[in-house]
Amino acid sequence: MAKLYFFYGAMNSGKTTRILQCAYNYEEQGMTPIIMKPKIDTKGDDKIVSRIGAKRKVDYLIEPKANVYDVIVESYTNVDLIIIDEAQFLTEKQVNQLMDVVIDLNISIMCFGLRTDFLGNSFPGARRLLDIAHELSEIKTICECGHKAMFNVRLVDGKVQTEGDSVAIDGEKNVTYTVACPRCFRLKTHRKFDN
Ligand SMILES: [Zn+2]
Repeated sequence: MAKLYFFYGAMNSGKTTRILQCAYNYEEQGMTPIIMKPKIDTKGDDKIVSRIGAKRKVDYLIEPKANVYDVIVESYTNVDLIIIDEAQFLTEKQVNQLMDVVIDLNISIMCFGLRTDFLGNSFPGARRLLDIAHELSEIKTICECGHKAMFNVRLVDGKVQTEGDSVAIDGEKNVTYTVACPRCFRLKTHRKFDN
């Protein structure tokens, strides 16, 4: 049975490396995986690039208004697996469309993405995936204190940000990110969760 999967984790948890490995494994078995990515993410343009340097071209860039059900029905019915990178940037509607694809076309879809933004709030696409995906799997990474990192801290010129747009791409406009456990997230952002 085909399933909708959501693999979520903080930044730099190795999601892209997993995606590349997964696509490679399918191809090695003679199957056809395709990779899609929301267009809002400009990092690497139409490529996905892992931190260890491997890269691969994305087969389809998803526009914010695109109906992904129609796109897949029109162009990708012969694929064995659909992988979506940066799935947190999907709209809730697009996640619903992906579930319809899984059910109607019997194609598994693996979504990879962040759970929350730099303020600790869930992205709409991630929230909907957490609501409805058949399988949830956390990709774990470690905070500098040694505990599990769950949050992304945004830095501009090395300074922690507590205001701004939900989306600011890593590496653009002096923006970088670091990850933190809940306690370190509170320390770095200088506020309690109930503030
Ligand atoms: Zn910590």
